[in-house]
Formats: sequence, C-alpha cells, structure tokens
Amino acid sequence: MEKMACNKLHPQSMCPAFGGLRVLMRIDGAQVCMAADQGCLYGLTFVSHFYVARRSIVSPELMNVQISGGTMIDDLRRTIESIASDPSVRFIPVVSTCVAETAGIAEELLPKKVGNAEVLLVRLPAFQIRTHPEAKDVAVATLVKRFGAFGEPRREKSLVVLGEIFPVDAMMIGGVLQRIGVQSVVTLPGADLDDYVQAGRAEACAVLHPFYERSASLFQSAGMKIVQGNPIGANATAQWIERIGEALDLDPETVRQVAEEERKKAKDVFAGFSHIKGSVIVAGYEGNELPLVRLLLEAGLDVPYASTSIARTPLGEEDHQLLTMLGTEVRYRKYLEEDEEAVLKYAPDLVIGTTALDSFAKERGIPAIYYYTNNISARPIFFASGAASVLGMIAGLIQKKDVYRKMKEYFLQAD
Ligand code: SF4
Repeated sequence: MEKMACNKLHPQSMCPAFGGLRVLMRIDGAQVCMAADQGCLYGLTFVSHFYVARRSIVSPELMNVQISGGTMIDDLRRTIESIASDPSVRFIPVVSTCVAETAGIAEELLPKKVGNAEVLLVRLPAFQIRTHPEAKDVAVATLVKRFGAFGEPRREKSLVVLGEIFPVDAMMIGGVLQRIGVQSVVTLPGADLDDYVQAGRAEACAVLHPFYERSASLFQSAGMKIVQGNPIGANATAQWIERIGEALDLDPETVRQVAEEERKKAKDVFAGFSHIKGSVIVAGYEGNELPLVRLLLEAGLDVPYASTSIARTPLGEEDHQLLTMLGTEVRYRKYLEEDEEAVLKYAPDLVIGTTALDSFAKERGIPAIYYYTNNISARPIFFASGAASVLGMIAGLIQKKDVYRKMKEYFLQAD
C-alpha cells in the first residue's frame, strides 16, 4: 500500500474570515469595513465577490506604515465615517483579521453608531478561529450579543433555526414547524439585521450544525432552550420534530403525528433506494459532514471513514457516538494526508471529498465528487425529499465505478 507522508502543513480550510464575511455581507444595508493588511484584503475581496454577496469590501489603506505608525485607528474611523455618509448603509461590520495589530483593536476606540449606521467590531483572526464554519459562529454570536432583544418579552412558541441551509430546506422546515404549532420562526444567519434583534425574543433555538457553539451558549445563557440535531434521515427527523415540540410545549399528539408521518415518508424513500450498495468516504471542511454520513448509513451504505475540519463539539456528540458505534472512523481537524490514507486503506466505491482528495481518488480510478458547494449544499438534504435528492445523486455516482476504472486503464495505456 502507498504510504502517505503527513506533513500537516497544508491549510485545511480557506481563510476563516471568509465564513464571517458570508454572514455579514449578506445582511441588507451592510457594508463591511475591513481592518486587514493588503494581502488579506486582496484574497477576501475576491471571495466576497465570487462566493458571498458580489459586494466590495471597503478598507483604509493599511500598509506597514499605518499599522506600526500609530495612525491605524484614526484611518479606520475616517473610513467608517466615509462609509456612513451613504444613507443606504445601515450597518458597518468592522472586520479585523490575522495581523496582530488589527486583531487587537480596542472596541472602545470605535464608534457604536455613525449617522444611520450601527458599527460593530467582529474579530476573525485565523490563529484563534481555525476554520470558516467556526467563523460563521463567531459572526452570528457577535451580532446576537449586540443586537438580540433579550430584555424584551419572549414571543410565545417561537423558535430560532440556526444554520445556513438550502432554500428549499428552509421552506420544508417552515412547513413542518407550522404543522406542529410553532407560531414564529427566525432563521439565522439572516439577511435582515432585525432577524438578530428578534432572535433574542424566541423561546428556543434549534441548532442545525455542530459548530454554532458560541451562538448556542449565548442563547442558552439567556434562558432559551437548545434543540440539538437536524431533520436528516428517518429517525433523526422524527426525533428532531419531537424535541421541538417538547422545547416549545406544543400539543404532544399533533407533534407525535407529524413526527410519525415524516419518519414514514423518509423510510419509504430509503426503501426505494435499498438497491444501492457500496462504501463511501466523506471528507469535507464545512463542519456538517456527520449528518450526511448518518443519512448514508441509514440508507444501508457503508461509510468506513469521515473527516471534517472543525473540532469535536458537544453539539455534534450524538452523531459522533452513533457513527463510531456503526463503525465509521471519524477525524476532526483533519489533514489532507489523513484523508488520502483513508482512500488507500478503505478503497471505497465513492469519495465525497475536497478538490485535492477527489483528484487523488480519481487518479486511482475511484469515482469522486467535490463535497459541498457544488453538490451537497446545492440540493435539499432535510426530510424525505432531501433524502431522495441526496440518495438519487449517490446512486448515480456509485454506478459509475466501472466507467472510472475504464478511464484509468485507458490513460495508463495512453502513457
Ligand atoms: S492572514 Fe489570516 S485573515 Fe489574512 S488571508 Fe490569511 S488567514 Fe485570512
């Protein structure tokens, strides 16, 4: 077997600030002011246009002269004032990144409001926040801490749904919650600053992804109930619905009925895909890989290895326990070399991985697809319809194993 040299030096997540920018730049009326050096700004301007909101980042010119010369705060204040002169800007997140001097900016030296615009410092240094999913959590928690209306009366039977999800999933969740009697729902990360205000008035928070630790503990310390898990797969879907019913004290009979209906619908989907067999490796960096693995296991597939870039968290512990009990080797804060070793060790029928891992697998004649952006996040995954969508894709890919083997043989001959 090929032995991989594990140098553990490859960056295994893109710049964490990217995750924070996704949350901040999608808020209506927001204009990010970035306190970073030119290198960060160059890369993050690219991602803000390409992956986020097609909006520009504004930043004072922070070269060594300004950073070490003591004018940085004045430059920053001037830039904030200039952004605020546009009346359409209602929110100015000031994002500080890795450069030590910008990471350590004193919040008290920045204004809280200029003109119409609220100003909020969001610290996103990579040496502290290791991955972009965790940076989303930092951004959401910073927003909720500042704007959440925790002091106002709670809205009865109201829920915060926390997690970035595919739009169809949001509609499905809304429909099911309405059927069990939830009266109002705020979805975070939200596109309206008011979503963060109203989140403080909810009775409970359903945390869909395991990396929202800071945000969940903020809600919990404000007296809100935390609902763990997500409606992925038959059993977890029913359990999730029941947990929400319990957290919001909804009518138990209605909740039980809806939970059973949704469990049955998902089970019917699994029955329709009982013909797919094979082993799949899931290796991502988005932090929500384990629920996908759970879905694949429930469908009868073998998942010998799964990895993610986030740390092991209490919010993901149920999945961790279940997956390891069912025989999946789970790696957190993984390195590419560990994923490559797993491909060699388990010789799976399909790899759902990162770009580099997919190339590695394809060179060995193993079907592989890029995990997140193009595939998993571009389709629903919740409830029965999500299961059907994901399993339909997997079924098609596993059947291609022979095609990949032939391609490999063809290119070997061509060599
Ligand atoms: S230095 Fe830090 S903030 Fe700047 S691009 Fe690199 S990881 Fe991101």
